Amino acid sequence: MDDGGDPIGELVRMLVRLPGVGEKSARRIAFHVLGAPPEFARALGQSVATLAERVRRCATCGVYTSRAVCTLCDDPRRARDVLCVVARPMDVDAIERTRAFAGRYHVLHCLLDPLGGVGPAEFPLEALIDRIRGEGVREVILATPPTVEGEATSLYLAESLRGLGVAVSRIASGVPHGGDLEFTDPITLGRALEGRRSL
Ligand code: ZN
Repeated sequence: MDDGGDPIGELVRMLVRLPGVGEKSARRIAFHVLGAPPEFARALGQSVATLAERVRRCATCGVYTSRAVCTLCDDPRRARDVLCVVARPMDVDAIERTRAFAGRYHVLHCLLDPLGGVGPAEFPLEALIDRIRGEGVREVILATPPTVEGEATSLYLAESLRGLGVAVSRIASGVPHGGDLEFTDPITLGRALEGRRSL
């Protein structure tokens, strides 16, 4: 007998693979979708399925955008000569929420992690150096996370950018060790930015 499988269990197993979603939340979401009008489930599925096609990395700074140039790079009010270097696009959102920074961003999309396959040879250093030279950047703020890889990346960048004539600083601690910028409250993260120190 074909019982049609276990569609609810199947969705729950997919949902628990998402960050921050446990078994209980996954079941709530699955039953909510079942109870909602069918158009909602279709729109949700469509939105998820086409996300990667509709969003790309800004060719200049690397944040996710649906435009050729992102709104941050396109904003003439933002200082061109101050660059904040972060590991992930979501770190840009976290810093934007502090309203403590009005320069531009550079997203690495990785951290220096030789054991994880990202050594100096794989690290995208050239793109950052090209931007610094090409856009007349005078100050670089290193906002990689306060983890082992984040600190290693920060030190590596500070060394690598020496001699380029830019002031290099690191955001101050105040964000929890081993934590994610994404989960740090805006006040703490704002203070960390203001209290950055040069390296
Ligand atoms: Zn951009």
